[in-house]
Amino acid sequence: MAEIEAKCLEKFKCLKRDMAEINIDPLQRGGILTPEARQALVEWGDGYSICDFCGGALDRIKNPPVEEFVHQVLPPFLGIDEVRVTHGAREGKFAAMHALCSKGDWVIVDGSAHYTTILAAERAGLNIEYVPSSGAPDYKITAEGYQDAIDRVYEKKGNVTMAVLTYPDGNYGNLADAKGVADMCHDYGVPFLLNGAYSVGRMPIKAQDIGADIIVGSGHKSMAACGPVGVMGASEEYARTIFKLSTTKKNKEVELLGCTVRGAPLLTLMASFPMVIDRVKHWDEEVAKARKFEDRMEALGMELQGDKPHNHDLMFFKAENLYEISKTAKKGRFFLYRDLKERGICGIKPGLTRQFKLSTYGLSEVELEKVLSAFEGIISSYPEVKANIKAKTKA
Ligand SMILES: *Cc1c(COP(=O)(O)O)cnc(C)c1O
Repeated sequence: MAEIEAKCLEKFKCLKRDMAEINIDPLQRGGILTPEARQALVEWGDGYSICDFCGGALDRIKNPPVEEFVHQVLPPFLGIDEVRVTHGAREGKFAAMHALCSKGDWVIVDGSAHYTTILAAERAGLNIEYVPSSGAPDYKITAEGYQDAIDRVYEKKGNVTMAVLTYPDGNYGNLADAKGVADMCHDYGVPFLLNGAYSVGRMPIKAQDIGADIIVGSGHKSMAACGPVGVMGASEEYARTIFKLSTTKKNKEVELLGCTVRGAPLLTLMASFPMVIDRVKHWDEEVAKARKFEDRMEALGMELQGDKPHNHDLMFFKAENLYEISKTAKKGRFFLYRDLKERGICGIKPGLTRQFKLSTYGLSEVELEKVLSAFEGIISSYPEVKANIKAKTKA
């Protein structure tokens, strides 16, 4: 094996991030740190920094006030009995599946589920029955779809031990009738897990109002934390099993491998939390902004997929006009990324033109205006294509 050259190591010492002024990547809008969290990140950056005053259980640490955060603050916020900190939404889903289901059981999953739901089920040795969406352009998921999926598994003589709903899904930002799904699952005695990676920390959401037995959230996606960090809540009925203690190691919860987030990411979650509690109260303003943005994008010739009117900041657009431009533009399909970047905007994956997602979350009216005028400017700077499209739509 060749020696590692010092020159090669040198570049690791100063890692910079190349970013535009406005980032519209849905993945990142809800994870931007507050100034308080940014400070906590530096203060608690050393490894295991949280463990100075730990008596053996992470969620019982009093200094810093983790115990208060996990046991007093998070349960009412999520509307559920018991909460723990995880490394992310996926780790919560896996822990719940691993604890509550047995190998070979079936889990019902919506067709718009995130890949991590599938991997969690696979890792736990479970079979998956999908609830298909209605397809383009609405991609609706219904409670009846869950009923049909459970029935299909019963016909195969399978054992359904969990149902998962992605709320909203990460493709279209659709908010299905979660309560309807919960009621349906409970009619069959199936525990219901709500994946709130894109909702917990953005919008008001209470597991008890929906009827979710388990709820997971993502700190780095929607709770203004650096991560990896997440939250998992469970109702009393399932908490005992999910958070069961080791038979040999005192105070250690098996599914969490004892302690989960052992430092800075948890502190950023806590430091941002006062702001997060406040921002979910302004969710109606976020929805109003998204709808206004949607209208303007459609006026520019792009088409929103999913719920209409939309109920979430994550939006998926089809853009035939941008696709037409990409056929002749210099750099081809990478033109959109380049042209947006030139206008101070990033977050749409390089190479995408015909369809893409974006988020308006937490952006000011001025910033949104800048994003819209960027799209407008780009489209009008390719006049041949614009004329072409006008002719087509008239015909
Ligand atoms: C991002 C995302 C996840 C993964 O969240 P992590 O906290 O990174 O595990 C899960 N589900 C959905 C719907 C997502 O969008």
